[in-house]
Amino acid sequence: MVFDVVVIGAGAAGLMCAAQAGYAGRRVLVLDHANKAGKKILMSGGGRCNFTNLDTAPGHFYSENPYFCISALKRYRPEHFVSLVETHGVEYVEKAPGQLFCADSAKEIVRVLMTECEWAGAEVALKTSISRVERQGEGMRLTTSMGTIDAGVVVVATGGLSIPTMGATGFGYDIARQFGLEVLPTRPGLVPFTLSDSWKERVAALSGVSLPSAVSCKETRFVEPMLFTHRGLSGPSMLQISSVWESGSAITIDLMPGESVAEALRHARQETPKRLLSTWLGERFPKRFAQALQEWYPNAELAIPLAQYSNEALDVWAQRLNQWQLKPAGTEGWRTAEVTMGGVSTHAISSKTFEVKDLPQLRFIGEVLDVTGQLGGYNFQWAWASGVACGQAC
Ligand code: FAD
Repeated sequence: MVFDVVVIGAGAAGLMCAAQAGYAGRRVLVLDHANKAGKKILMSGGGRCNFTNLDTAPGHFYSENPYFCISALKRYRPEHFVSLVETHGVEYVEKAPGQLFCADSAKEIVRVLMTECEWAGAEVALKTSISRVERQGEGMRLTTSMGTIDAGVVVVATGGLSIPTMGATGFGYDIARQFGLEVLPTRPGLVPFTLSDSWKERVAALSGVSLPSAVSCKETRFVEPMLFTHRGLSGPSMLQISSVWESGSAITIDLMPGESVAEALRHARQETPKRLLSTWLGERFPKRFAQALQEWYPNAELAIPLAQYSNEALDVWAQRLNQWQLKPAGTEGWRTAEVTMGGVSTHAISSKTFEVKDLPQLRFIGEVLDVTGQLGGYNFQWAWASGVACGQAC
């Protein structure tokens, strides 16, 4: 079998690339070992796929080379993808500022991509394993469960390592290493935190409670809701900060973002001196959390009027609520991570065509590369943009 372009990985980036290469007149084959195309798309955004973010800009991506993503993101913008889904009659909603989700189901996005591949004449072969990728003259040769396939260009779109049960493998990294490319260390990103046994027990009763928060680590800060789980901490702010967190370091949680607790408590003491601190906490936090605070700090006497608190005692509470320092025990790892930090170094890759600079018949796109977006639809926008740039250049 001979194809102009063989794409390894029928995920977001791979299908987008295949359709574009097909429209450009290339004979295209997409290979995937999974039994379904776009499995991660199907499970994304709680089943409704946050398919883009209207605020997409390079600052929302992590990479050793922060300039690499600029060109593709500039050329294929969120409005291009929005126009594509509109062409296919997909209804969508802006659930949070800039974050577009399918109104109905993530299946719609897979339908769009598969239809695009069909219209462009790109073939998709599922349940196909690939055991070898090698150079063959000016092109490439793949040894697969379908037999030997010769390709003018091989595009690696195998994604990251998260959720292995959905078909994630490190095959793309193996191919990169085989051809002498650097693969930067990988670690789970956008992943819930686990806590030490003592904290895990304390927060277990709060499972399901969500609070506004500002979470920071090193120089980075996210103001979004957080969520207590039976294992630890999740929710948008925790997922976001997990991407910059390093094992062993602490995170700082502000449970009343935008408000100085010290000032608020002094004001309350002056205005309502007879009010109990426990009442004050109960007015500001969900009941279960306000109760938990009393259990977490058993020596703190909460059932006394604010008037009896010294400035120092109020400041202790201000510290607990505005600057709660916590050292996560770890993360839930690849099992639940949404993305992979690190991956194939972009240094040897063209940011315009995504070809390996001294081996243009080999290309890498999507999450397998060392480009990782923040939470909010940025990762799909990267998959679309890198897929389009590469597909059009094939
Ligand atoms: P993928 O979409 O992962 O596709 C890779 C493909 O390669 C897969 O089909 C896989 O089967 C195939 N493959 C892997 N190894 C092999 C092999 N050895 N042989 C053959 N085929 C192989 N991002 C957002 O922007 N918005 C969201 O709402 C969102 N929600 C998410 C929710 C969850 C639970 C997860 C896990 C991720 C979410 N993401 C989201 C991230 C997003 O899914 C990925 O960034 C995106 O899918 C990456 O696209 P990709 O094409 O590079 O890789």
